[in-house]
Amino acid sequence: MSVITAVDTFDIRFPTSLELDGSDAMNPDPDYSAAYLVIRTDAGDGHEGHGFVFTIGRGNEVEAVAIQALRHHILGRNVEELLGDMGGTWKLLVHDSQLRWLGPEKGVMHMAIGAVVNALWDLKAKRAGLPLWELLSRMSPEEIVALVDFRYLSDALTPEDALGIVRTAEPGRAARRAALLAEGYPAYTTTPGWLGYSDDKLVRLAKEAVADGFGQIKLKVGASLEDDIRRVRTARDAVGPDIKIAVDANQRWDVQEAIDWMAHLAPYDIAWIEEPTSPDDVLGHAAIARGVAPIPVATGEHVQNRVMFKQMLQAGSLQVLQLDAARVAGVNENIAILLLAAKFGVRVCPHAGGVGLCEAVQHLSMFDFVAVSADKNGRMIEFVDHLHEHFVTPVDVHDGSYWPPSAPGAGSEMVGGTLAGYSFPDGPVWAAGSPPLTPRQ
Ligand SMILES: [Mg+2]
Repeated sequence: MSVITAVDTFDIRFPTSLELDGSDAMNPDPDYSAAYLVIRTDAGDGHEGHGFVFTIGRGNEVEAVAIQALRHHILGRNVEELLGDMGGTWKLLVHDSQLRWLGPEKGVMHMAIGAVVNALWDLKAKRAGLPLWELLSRMSPEEIVALVDFRYLSDALTPEDALGIVRTAEPGRAARRAALLAEGYPAYTTTPGWLGYSDDKLVRLAKEAVADGFGQIKLKVGASLEDDIRRVRTARDAVGPDIKIAVDANQRWDVQEAIDWMAHLAPYDIAWIEEPTSPDDVLGHAAIARGVAPIPVATGEHVQNRVMFKQMLQAGSLQVLQLDAARVAGVNENIAILLLAAKFGVRVCPHAGGVGLCEAVQHLSMFDFVAVSADKNGRMIEFVDHLHEHFVTPVDVHDGSYWPPSAPGAGSEMVGGTLAGYSFPDGPVWAAGSPPLTPRQ
């Protein structure tokens, strides 16, 4: 047996606001960041578990402290016990009665739990010598369903429902695994569409995206209707009629405003409207979905837990479900969300980009294809081409697809030099007197 000997946390920040990468109508100057942890053991096998919460700068230190508040649950614990019952380990963390008061099951504390859960999955996959998607895809239907906490779900999804979904997919697993290795998993790109980019940069990057094989691009909208009409028309002219264009308002609008605004963009053949309003507004999203139909409504990157997703599916609030690897309480809760989506027959197109989200979330989509929904029609994973060089196993995206990772683990491990260099505020990238980068307050 082995025990967990250390849970180290790091406040890692990248000065992305200098280039306006990641700029949108609500987030004009993000510094992409990670509240990051490393779990070490005394097993002597060299394996560590790495996980993170993605943030966009200020407050990343709060998230790192939230991760530290969970250390007592795993420090000194038997590794084999924790990893051998990941459903039980998830409940141990999520059902902490005192920490639960800070949510429950939402926000800073819930995201911190997600980082710890994902780091444990990273360790489990490395110990198994498998990439996470493959580790999950090899589990029995009963083992998969045992990872999920059905509390608050059973009016929409019972354990029996879930078992039925995964059992139905089981006979085709080997064929779909082979298809995944041969064809990859579809991707779309947001690289051309950041709000801070000039029209010339938009056109150049949109054409590059098409040349790179992407079948869909996404544009940020919501700050100025006049600018949005011009930018969407410019993008449509650049890519032609056969490439899909989605738009993303990042929660900028009220309900009626969303419906009115989208009426002006609808003539340019919009693939979906993403985050039109508050991520908590279940009925507002449903009203928007009715108001902008047949344009689908997409949301999920800020949907805080499986209970909110359940309501949105029940209410018809979303037609594209955009789960995020680092928003909810880790792999287990995302499996619950994948099962909900399968039950309601809604396609999943995960949120990614940021830092490390592409590396992490690809495992969930690939597992979903092999073992849950058994479907990748109309499904694709977001891709943004920056900061991948900071990861030990960066994503392999080419010809418009994600290609399945083969390295053991969950994809979440940053290279050592990044942990040292980008630590805030004392790493060399941020330290005073290192022009041109200046720490933001
Ligand atoms: Mg978005």
